[in-house]
Amino acid sequence: MRTQVGIIGGGPSGLLLARLLGLAGIDSVVLERRTPEYLRARIRAGLLEQGTVDLLDEIGVGARLNRDKLVHDGVELVFDGKRHRIDLKALSGKSVTIYGQSEIQSDLMNAHEAAGTPILYEVDNVSLHGLTGEAAQLRYTRRGESHQLACDFIAGCDGFHGASREAIPKDVLRVYEKVYPFGWLGILSETPPVNHELIYTNHERGFALCTMRSLTRSRHYLQVSAEEDAAHWSDDRFWSELKLRLPPDVAAALVTGPSIEKSVAPLRSFVAEPMRYGRLFLAGDAAHIVPPTGAKGLNLAAADVRFLAEALVAHYKTGSAALLDGYSAKCLARIWKAQRFSWWMTSLTHRFPEASPFERRAQAAELAYITGSKAGQTTLAENYVGLPFE
Ligand SMILES: Cc1cc2nc3c(=O)[nH]c(=O)nc-3n(C[C@H](O)[C@H](O)[C@H](O)COP(=O)(O)OP(=O)(O)OC[C@H]3O[C@@H](n4cnc5c(N)ncnc54)[C@H](O)[C@@H]3O)c2cc1C
Repeated sequence: MRTQVGIIGGGPSGLLLARLLGLAGIDSVVLERRTPEYLRARIRAGLLEQGTVDLLDEIGVGARLNRDKLVHDGVELVFDGKRHRIDLKALSGKSVTIYGQSEIQSDLMNAHEAAGTPILYEVDNVSLHGLTGEAAQLRYTRRGESHQLACDFIAGCDGFHGASREAIPKDVLRVYEKVYPFGWLGILSETPPVNHELIYTNHERGFALCTMRSLTRSRHYLQVSAEEDAAHWSDDRFWSELKLRLPPDVAAALVTGPSIEKSVAPLRSFVAEPMRYGRLFLAGDAAHIVPPTGAKGLNLAAADVRFLAEALVAHYKTGSAALLDGYSAKCLARIWKAQRFSWWMTSLTHRFPEASPFERRAQAAELAYITGSKAGQTTLAENYVGLPFE
């Protein structure tokens, strides 16, 4: 089998790229390890920057998004039990959009099904070959048979635990990593959101976040130790702990209910450089991970793919390699700014077990500064809504 771009991974990055290429008349084949049912059910991100919403609209998968989305003009920070609203719209001119990643995944899969994009599910043992040669090749097994896919380029869209980053030689790849001493215990429930906008709480018992996926579906998170086992948290225990961390008026308004999903996610900052090795281009979580505090992971993935598709289209239409050659540096410039913001939001809103009394007082002073200064709020707002594409 032969294609122009072999895409490893059928998550948001891989499916967005396949769609952008397909609309430009460029062939691709997507190799995905999981089943379609698993991908449609996977609960993850929920907060989209305007640039991501625009991209979904441009590629013709925005109909359900535009019908069901919730638009937020602000966000709340809570510390010392007091609520402070940051008016994102007034400060940055932009809003953020709530629409679940599982819905985006379904919208993209439906569009690909209609367009007949070759997406091969349940592939195993994907390996990459010929990355610095005249042509690249993907080898994989499916339903017990071995296959080969010849391609001009390979897009590594296979997430943090995928095979593509591992194919870059160790003496070429530089890795930057920070692992946080805590994780997020999250639950999804069929309950109305406690507030129209997100509430980030810094409490002496730990961070808490009230967010949502729709007007009837809420997502809540608690800071827990990185080793915590979600099985030790009954729904009652979760709701009781959340109420302890929220301001009394929010706790009183909280509607609780059975969880549909409950899991612990470790928090990590990670960047792999460069994002190109010969005929291989990394995009999304394959190249970078952010702690979810800044809600940047899916948005960064969408930005990478936008740049990569532009570069591949330019290559096939004009023969110019300039955008492909500039891909890694262009993405990394924006990624590092989002890394900085996600690390900073995490540092501001969480309780670090090893923090000294001095560091705790400095954190409280920073929260007071941010919420009390228009300049401070503007810094938060313009990063939260998403930095411009340069
Ligand atoms: C709890 C949580 C909350 C989050 N909240 C937000 C948020 O609010 N906003 C935000 O922007 N981001 C958020 N994120 C991050 C966001 O979900 C990811 O950044 C996003 O899924 C990245 O998309 P991706 O396609 O690059 O990677 P993935 O979604 O990981 O997709 C990679 C795909 O590759 C497949 N794959 C892996 N290895 C192989 C292989 N060897 N062969 C074939 N296929 C393979 C996988 O099955 C998967 O389908 C959150 C993440 C988590 C875990």
